Amino acid sequence: MKMRQIQFDGVGELRQVEREIPPLKDTQVLVKVEACGLCTWERYIYAGTESMPFPFVGGHEIAARVVETGAAVSSEIRVGMPLSVAKWVRCNQCELCRRGYDNHCLGNDKPSDKGYSGPGGFSDYLVCESYEIFPFPEDAPIHYAALAEPVACVTRAVNRLRSVAGDTVVVVGAGLMGLLFLKLLKLRGYKVIVVQRSAARRERAAKMGADLVLDPGAEYWPERVRRETGGMGAASVVYTAGGSAAVNECLDAARIGGDVMLYAPTHEERPPVDLDLVHFKELVLTGAIRHDKESFRQAVRLLGSGQVEFGDLNLSFGSMEHLREEMERADTDREIHRILLRWE
Ligand SMILES: [Zn+2]
Ligand SMILES: [Zn+2]
Repeated sequence: MKMRQIQFDGVGELRQVEREIPPLKDTQVLVKVEACGLCTWERYIYAGTESMPFPFVGGHEIAARVVETGAAVSSEIRVGMPLSVAKWVRCNQCELCRRGYDNHCLGNDKPSDKGYSGPGGFSDYLVCESYEIFPFPEDAPIHYAALAEPVACVTRAVNRLRSVAGDTVVVVGAGLMGLLFLKLLKLRGYKVIVVQRSAARRERAAKMGADLVLDPGAEYWPERVRRETGGMGAASVVYTAGGSAAVNECLDAARIGGDVMLYAPTHEERPPVDLDLVHFKELVLTGAIRHDKESFRQAVRLLGSGQVEFGDLNLSFGSMEHLREEMERADTDREIHRILLRWE
């Protein structure tokens, strides 16, 4: 049996290929991909802004169904069952896996025998390790399972904040990640202020429950945050976009002893960051990247539970066979939060 994949052969080069599906090992599960999110990471690799060894098969936000299970896989995993797939190596043996930093597993750096690099979700069928699959409820829309990866990344970040319910948290940037922060923070009882330049995005954030939306073009927003918090500043400030200028504003907007979470890179070689603010205000400057096993489990549970509205996100279905056009669409229509690719 063969699987179809959309493979990047180099920067700006892609084509559909067929590969023999390797025989299933005892601990593996064969799945059929139902939908796969097109994330910026894959678009950056295609454009050459980020690098991965070619040939490369992207696709790491995967909703799928079980086709076949290996002999050692739990009998609870049944054929046809909907799943979220976290397609990253977790060797469970390296120092980082053992310390709860499995999002940095050293096994990810090792070459594999699959014939391509990358998670491989841009495929119609895919072989997964049993630890990579997370059963998703039958009664929830299956394409939500493809959101588990981005939600798990944000969950990990939110879990690392030190503020508590009732505190004010600022989210800088209201793209998909900023909005997921907003939803998860509201769920946990925070007062959330969203800072965003685009009026359309501010409006959307307000509709999704932001307590206050601020336009950084209209006022010096850290000052406004101080006014809104009795002169104290925000307990936590989450940076998801905006370069080093915004990072400095985050440091300024945080209260004494507060924390500033760098969720996104600044994309700058040597960002001029005002580190003295960290010293004088005793701030905790922290970061988060990707998801760990526990945050992925939490995200799947949350998405399947119906506790949070995800239907107000601007999700758009697209065609896996036309990945090139879909990447152009994602570049042109910046208000689409996720294109979810399906095979025609
Ligand atoms: Zn992603
Ligand atoms: Zn590991």
